[in-house]
Amino acid sequence: MGPVFDLAIIGGGVNGCGIARDAVGRGNSVFLCEMNDLASGTSSWSTKLVHGGLRYLEYYDFKLVRHALLEREILWGIAPHIIRPLRFVLPHHAGLRPAWLLRLGLFLYDHIGGRKLLPPTRTLDLARDEVGKPLAPGRFRRGFEYSDCFVDDARLVVLTARDAADRGADIRTRTKATEIRQVDGIWQVTVQGADGERSVIRARTLVNAGGPWVEQILASGAGVNAKAKVRLVQGSHIVVPRLYDHDRAYIFQNADGRIVFAIPYQDDFTLIGTTDLDYDGDPAQVKISAAEIDYLCASVSEYLAKPVDPEDVVWTYSGVRPLYDDGADEAKAATRDYVFELDLPGGVPLLSIYGGKITTHRRLAEEALEKLAPYLKGTKAPEGWTAKATLPGGDFDVSALDALVAELRRDYPFLTPAHANRLAHAYGTRAAKMLGQAKTPADLGQSFGATLTEREVGYLIANEFAVNAEDIVWRRSKLGLRMSAAEIAALDDWITAHRHQPDSPVRAAGAHP
Ligand SMILES: Cc1cc2nc3c(=O)[nH]c(=O)nc-3n(C[C@H](O)[C@H](O)[C@H](O)COP(=O)(O)OP(=O)(O)OC[C@H]3O[C@@H](n4cnc5c(N)ncnc54)[C@H](O)[C@@H]3O)c2cc1C
Repeated sequence: MGPVFDLAIIGGGVNGCGIARDAVGRGNSVFLCEMNDLASGTSSWSTKLVHGGLRYLEYYDFKLVRHALLEREILWGIAPHIIRPLRFVLPHHAGLRPAWLLRLGLFLYDHIGGRKLLPPTRTLDLARDEVGKPLAPGRFRRGFEYSDCFVDDARLVVLTARDAADRGADIRTRTKATEIRQVDGIWQVTVQGADGERSVIRARTLVNAGGPWVEQILASGAGVNAKAKVRLVQGSHIVVPRLYDHDRAYIFQNADGRIVFAIPYQDDFTLIGTTDLDYDGDPAQVKISAAEIDYLCASVSEYLAKPVDPEDVVWTYSGVRPLYDDGADEAKAATRDYVFELDLPGGVPLLSIYGGKITTHRRLAEEALEKLAPYLKGTKAPEGWTAKATLPGGDFDVSALDALVAELRRDYPFLTPAHANRLAHAYGTRAAKMLGQAKTPADLGQSFGATLTEREVGYLIANEFAVNAEDIVWRRSKLGLRMSAAEIAALDDWITAHRHQPDSPVRAAGAHP
């Protein structure tokens, strides 16, 4: 029999990993299992905004907006490589919300949430400003520009898990919790690894951070009758070749009362999303429909000089929001705030999480640990430590990212500007650790396409829990947008072949680095 952990967590999305990091940092022994790859659930399918959520003001959800706004600069501060400020252009549409309402909303947005570094809202003359140029000529005269942040959501999850593991958490990917039960005041979680082998993990407290699978986990034998219900809401995005030259995003209002974002993405693309549709299928099988593609194209084409056509779409993705079911009529109106359900079957605590956002995951973790405090003993770090401790590679000032890129180019002159830029934004100060003593491109080993090299692949497998090509090109990076199917297949073959070679980073890392 292995140790009895203070806390076991099921689910390696942003919420599970956030709780693991906070709990282990406070001195608890922590186990986390993720049935697939980290962030393979909802946490890599978001719009990737660290934002207050301007539209939630319309639902008078001031608490959620304030808490989320407060998190923006905190998260930017602990992960300045993977989070960046982004300005949003909101054109005033004559037939929709009046300008005074937009201005009032943005005034609140600027002032209720601890904005210190991000610039405030300004009014735009769209006839003169360059951000008016991509818009349909003569239709939009007035607009507003405000601040939020953009995050690499999947990397946020992975780096949070990496930090938790560095502090002692036992993080197991490709490990599914198949049964949970309490025996003599202890949780016993049966877990099954990729090889099919089962083992039992014991813990004093259990967190169900299964996202869209939260109810399935409860049904796997806990003897808990959940009172809360999850409402699964599908959201889809399309990616098209870059629509315009400037670096700001647009927030477009739709006639149906929803909003759609168009965001500069991965240098050469524009990300457009999202939709809100109730979903009742298997969360792992969610897919964009032709109707959603049409809806997103029509939403942005209403505003742009050059319409976006479904034919322009180069990539799509869909995710399922695991929202707390508050009985709202429409999916778009269901609360985005999180709700906890604490059950004590046989006196042993099980905390289930409903809802939440990428933006609020750190605060959610603090509140989860507050709820579990009577059952946990860790007191090593005070509550709030996660607001100050940087994530791996994020130990530099938020204003120093350009300097970091310049440093990389100085120390590794063979890197192209775009390559150095990509590495700095992905790895921050750890880019140099990844590149090591390399003096020439050849020192980085085999090249798999789109600047991905053997050195980087080995680093991701050894340090970031990556196991296969999909983990690397779609979650640790978005190089899948630039690599051909043949290149991705070749990468997968290379990883499989090297898993069995002595001295290979793939083998050294194993399935659970
Ligand atoms: C379209 C869309 C847009 C969004 N945009 C934003 C945004 O811009 N900003 C923002 O802040 N938020 C956004 N969100 C919300 C945010 O993405 C989610 O709230 C968040 O990712 C939920 O994280 P989670 O950890 O609860 O769930 P998940 O990320 O789904 O993690 C749950 C994990 O549990 C694992 N799991 C399930 N069952 C088991 C089991 N039995 N054993 C082991 N592992 C298991 C799953 O594989 C999964 O990885 C968006 C969501 C969607 C869908």
